[in-house]
Amino acid sequence: MTAISHSPAQNAIVSKWDDTAAAHMSEPELLLYRSNLLGSDLRVTNFGGGNTSAKVKMKDYLTGEEVEVLWVKGSGGDLGSIKLDGFSTLYMSKLQALKSRYRGLAHEDEMVDYLPHCTYNLNPRAASIDTPLHAYIPKAHVDHMHPDAIIAIAACADSRRLTEVIFGGQLGWLPWQRPGYDLGLKLEALATAQPQLKGIILEGHGLFTWGDTAKSCYETTLAMIRLAEQWLAENVRQPVFGGARTGVLAAEARADVAARLMPALRGRIGQAERKLGHFDDSAAVLEFVCSRDLPALAALGTSCPDHFLRTKIRPLVLDFDPASPDVDALLAGLDGALEAYRADYAAYYERCKRPNSPAMRDPNPVIYLIPGVGMLSFAKDKATARIAAEFYVNAINVMRGANGVDTYVGLPEQEAFDIEYWLLEEAKLQRMPKPKSLAGRVALVTGGAGGIGQAVARQLLAEGACVMLTDIDGAALEEARQSLLKVAGKDNVAAAQGDITSEAQVEALLAATSLRFGGLDILVSNAGIASAAPLEDTTLEIWNRNQNILVTGYFLVSRGAFRLMKQQKIGGSMVFVASKNGLVASAGASAYCTAKAAEIHLARCIALEGAAVGVRVNVVNPDAVIRGSRIWDGKWKEERAASNKIETDDIEEFYRQRSMLKLSVLPEDIAEAVYFLASDKSGKSTGNVLNVDAGNAAAFTR
Ligand SMILES: [Zn+2]
Repeated sequence: MTAISHSPAQNAIVSKWDDTAAAHMSEPELLLYRSNLLGSDLRVTNFGGGNTSAKVKMKDYLTGEEVEVLWVKGSGGDLGSIKLDGFSTLYMSKLQALKSRYRGLAHEDEMVDYLPHCTYNLNPRAASIDTPLHAYIPKAHVDHMHPDAIIAIAACADSRRLTEVIFGGQLGWLPWQRPGYDLGLKLEALATAQPQLKGIILEGHGLFTWGDTAKSCYETTLAMIRLAEQWLAENVRQPVFGGARTGVLAAEARADVAARLMPALRGRIGQAERKLGHFDDSAAVLEFVCSRDLPALAALGTSCPDHFLRTKIRPLVLDFDPASPDVDALLAGLDGALEAYRADYAAYYERCKRPNSPAMRDPNPVIYLIPGVGMLSFAKDKATARIAAEFYVNAINVMRGANGVDTYVGLPEQEAFDIEYWLLEEAKLQRMPKPKSLAGRVALVTGGAGGIGQAVARQLLAEGACVMLTDIDGAALEEARQSLLKVAGKDNVAAAQGDITSEAQVEALLAATSLRFGGLDILVSNAGIASAAPLEDTTLEIWNRNQNILVTGYFLVSRGAFRLMKQQKIGGSMVFVASKNGLVASAGASAYCTAKAAEIHLARCIALEGAAVGVRVNVVNPDAVIRGSRIWDGKWKEERAASNKIETDDIEEFYRQRSMLKLSVLPEDIAEAVYFLASDKSGKSTGNVLNVDAGNAAAFTR
């Protein structure tokens, strides 16, 4: 075990504004440029957080008159990657006219329905809830950011006085208020009353800054964040978080604990809806989870609304002593810890709910903190789980700053509830597209570098699964991973080189899958080789190679997957990619055919034992999938051609003509069958064999 100390990066945020690049940009383009620059640095604003705007003179499409149009980041998206179509555009005159419709704070939510009536140029981008905040600040260019350093000050008990001390009258201050129409009017009133201000700090929330030009607005935003960072660096008490309470396990041991813990948690919180996990043991996280202040600070909850919408108001701190690490005891304590958390969450819901509140949502934690090990997060997809972890790191940064200079304050419980169960947020959730058929599922595909392996991975990814690819050939595997990254996001694809005939490597592969995604739901056992030789010429080496890969390898991977699935207690599906030759004896390939027959029988045996724990096992039998095949690339093609007395180049046509349907079988055809058996569409099938061979009477099952 080692001690950990982490200090956030000390290099100051610098302006990336390029006058040459900006010289010929229109005002909307300058807004876009500024937004992308701001969004490119997580210290300036968190992922998906904050928004920017510009009030631009434009021609009215109907009258040709010059009108003032508010360009403001629309609902959804991230500033770092936003494009021009991510901004909504609204007539300023109409936004001003809205003031006459406002009936007071109790009715502010209804103002959201008026926003579409203010749209300029039929822009389909929905205006965000923050639109009035930008509209009513009487400045041409406005930034609203969530910088950790500013929120640290905004989340201090004494934040109003500290704002004065640090910014010396450059920034105003407004007490906590949920973002909405009324806050827009408050910002307007303060900015109008104190025209010398460069911006306003919102208590427990973030920063507003403005300027007469896009560039001056950008520079002011950075200058204010720099001031905050510098002041915190000079004033935060050491050691932070009250110093270390525990040591830290070595990196490998941390990963081991997480890999065992994640499937156990995933099964317990994923009964209703599968979740994906993310592990973070960065220095900032370790410093916090090993600190004396961990229990007290974690209990206070996060402050910025953006933070807790992603992380839930509180994390679950698990009881673990890295000085005498006992993972079995940790696992044994999970049920109790989760039950207590859920009961606590239900009590919070009951205390705070209003007559029209939406029904209670999933009461399970999103963030899990383990002393000496790190942080886990779980969400409905991998990107959401990763982003939740990033948000909690934002929250840790805020607590480090706030608690280091003053007393950190979380958001009042009722305020947090009103945001979490805000009807406008609920409406956003209801608008989310229906999840894909394999959403929340984790698949492991062996032989992932080959044609069938890649086609299977592509299909599972397209249906919403996360995929761990493995192959013995590291270079080909990396090529396959790169090609899959082009069709699926970086969150959903991973690869680990490994030899399925090695017990240790298979165990490591399954642990890597758990660590990367949280567990396992689908195993596609597809690694393969082929050989052809008359019996007399079949060497023991050829025989053993077929047995090792096609039988022992399949046994090792499925045994490991079975144990993992059983531990998760949410079932699973295994699909073996075997061969027609497992059912039909073929002269001159006894080693291969025998191994394939054993493979099919192994699947049936596991299906018997798997049924009791909801694990289904089925087989897809391809025949003559030549295109993209790494097996058919080599000697096998020549061997089969020779044995069938034809030219190598004619082999595809030969097999097509041999099939009943006179069709070639492609990797995508196998992928379709694997997907069917892997998904809930085949939820009542186990122990089956599905032939995908364009018709072969000898292979008919019976
Ligand atoms: Zn905000």
